[in-house]
Amino acid sequence: HPWRVSRPVVRRDLADLPAYVPGARSPVGAAAFKLSSNENPYPPLPAVVAAIMDAAEDVNRYPDMFATELTEAIGASLGVDPAGVVVGTGSVAVLGHVLTAFCEPGDEVVVPWRSFEAYPIAVALAGAVGVRVPVGEDGRLDLVAMAAAVTERTRVVLVCTPNNPTGPAVRADELEEFLVAVPEHVLVVLDEAYVEFVRDADAADGLATFAANPNVVLLRTFSKAYGLAGLRVGYAVARPRLAAGIRLASTPFGVSHLAQHAALASLRARDQLLARVDAIVAERTRMLAGLRGQGWTVPDSEANFVWLALGDHATTFAERCARAGVVVRPFAGDGVRVSVGEPEATDILLEVAADWLR
Ligand code: PMP
Repeated sequence: HPWRVSRPVVRRDLADLPAYVPGARSPVGAAAFKLSSNENPYPPLPAVVAAIMDAAEDVNRYPDMFATELTEAIGASLGVDPAGVVVGTGSVAVLGHVLTAFCEPGDEVVVPWRSFEAYPIAVALAGAVGVRVPVGEDGRLDLVAMAAAVTERTRVVLVCTPNNPTGPAVRADELEEFLVAVPEHVLVVLDEAYVEFVRDADAADGLATFAANPNVVLLRTFSKAYGLAGLRVGYAVARPRLAAGIRLASTPFGVSHLAQHAALASLRARDQLLARVDAIVAERTRMLAGLRGQGWTVPDSEANFVWLALGDHATTFAERCARAGVVVRPFAGDGVRVSVGEPEATDILLEVAADWLR
């Protein structure tokens, strides 16, 4: 009982949560490249910087709470009803709002694992119980096992596609079968943080899936392809009735005026930004081919990172990369995720990888 101790006590279950360890904030040493947080290596476009500067004039006022202009622009760009678009401070915050809006204490959320490390934390914070379903050796989500893990208490299933940190995207046919197997009252969240990097013709089409399935919610972000990680803008796309519920759980005025205008300017510059995405995808192809050519087994990546399943050697490999000038992201005992960035960084990574096998 908290009143028997003489100091405030933090919720005990929070202490048991795995920490969300961010990639190193800044590279070690002047020549280092940061490949640890799946960020966009390109600086913001001048038009985006200009929009941020203009918006700065109004920061004595609260932002538009519902980000009307932005949700309308997102709706128009995707061909969805803007009433179904809910923005937040990064899609990680929006995910928290979705879980808070749909889960009551003790409800179950099916999550793939290993996947985005924020999932178990967000689920626990919402008071729900995470049910983990292992990702296959090939880095692919096992949607058959995930559907089988659904019980009477399941309220939400998280489908990360492409999966962070392993890379593959779910296929259209397997997602279709999965949605037939999952009861219609279960919310299926397609976390499409990396959707702009997908090139596999067999990959599921999130928007088409959303159009055909009222229980599907899409989660997207301006942090990756659009290069606005530092401003924190993400969003959910849901049926308007569900979106209204997610809005109830959202932080009031969460997305700043600067962030709203930067996101709007980014949508206007979409073609230019997506050309950069093409360059990152080309670099991904080079990194994958380079690694496979050396003899590495690497899962297909449809995102802006590749996964090296190094097991117990993950931390040592990451240390070697850091010494060579690239900061990568180790998951101790499991593997190393390398974001795709500058070509020079790929060259260094490939050198370290070749050395490692020698
Ligand atoms: N989903 C996935 C799968 C991610 O990898 C990330 C970022 N690492 C996010 C969501 C959250 O991104 P943000 O909060 O910056 O939108």
